[in-house]
Amino acid sequence: MELQALADKIREGNIRAIGKGITLIESRKPEHAERAARLLELLLPHAGQSLRVGITGVPGVGKSTFIESFGSYLTEQGHKVAVLAVDPSSQISGGSILGDKTRMEELSRNPRAFIRPSPAGDTLGGVARRTRETMLLCEAAGYDVVIVETVGVGQSETTVASMVDFFMLLQLATAGDELQGIKKGVMELADAILINKADIDRAKTELARRQYENALHILRPKSRNWAVPVQTVSALNHEGVPEVWEMLSRFRRTMKESGEFDGNRRRQSVDWMWSLVMDDLKQLFLQHNDVQGMFPQVQEAVSRGITTPSVAARRLLNVFRR
Ligand code: GDP
Repeated sequence: MELQALADKIREGNIRAIGKGITLIESRKPEHAERAARLLELLLPHAGQSLRVGITGVPGVGKSTFIESFGSYLTEQGHKVAVLAVDPSSQISGGSILGDKTRMEELSRNPRAFIRPSPAGDTLGGVARRTRETMLLCEAAGYDVVIVETVGVGQSETTVASMVDFFMLLQLATAGDELQGIKKGVMELADAILINKADIDRAKTELARRQYENALHILRPKSRNWAVPVQTVSALNHEGVPEVWEMLSRFRRTMKESGEFDGNRRRQSVDWMWSLVMDDLKQLFLQHNDVQGMFPQVQEAVSRGITTPSVAARRLLNVFRR
């Protein structure tokens, strides 16, 4: 199909065209990269209108149950919801944590929702690039809420936080040393913490909520304009779900008014450009023939303490620059 025609169909929200476009974006054939880039250029002026929401939490915390409930609620409110995933675990373990086909069964049948599993078998950088581009395509197709789901594998949370407007952390009210189990770094990325499965033990959930609130007071705030709320939900019973949307709407309003919303997006775009440049440079460096030829000898010398790391690094870079 002619690219312009494909772009037009995507903008009409045609599901087959959307699938085709994403396949093009996810393809690793060099001839497709060029077409994918041109397609995105055509779509870009129509993207950017959605609210981009990231969700993370350990397996079993209830991410897919929550997204199913939240997504269904949003479609009832007249929204169109796209759900994407960033799951680099498929690369490490050979199996994907988020790729299970039975997840979000109801939402996957909802005509106002679109669910796409994580692109597989690549580095986190590769998965992130494809997800980001797919997000733009979905926006151009009229999805006004884009949810990007991830699990706490390696750097995936930082990566997803850097591509969304709002990043949510799903937690459980576990017994004992509540806060020990979670990585402090992830709490610093969060714009909200949701404690799920409130139906199981309400008193314990409320206690956990207060503990998280206290813990947040100690952290340096991510934004001057937003105090990170801790809310309780029961994804299974759809409790607290409308309140999450109210909170997100408040966030968007507040951040738009302060200019921080658009400022964040501009910064994300520039960061994104640089990370693409850096990825490419790294590839060029690692594939450079003379540099490659030097690796074994230089690494050996550094590991045996004959050469300092800084001298060795300079030698490799000098060969690359020549
Ligand atoms: P994910 O791995 O984070 O996507 O977690 P799932 O959404 O698959 O949920 C894991 C399990 O927890 C499932 O058996 C869900 O039915 C259950 N679950 C999810 N949310 C709730 C909740 O709010 N209350 C209760 N009681 N169970 C829940």
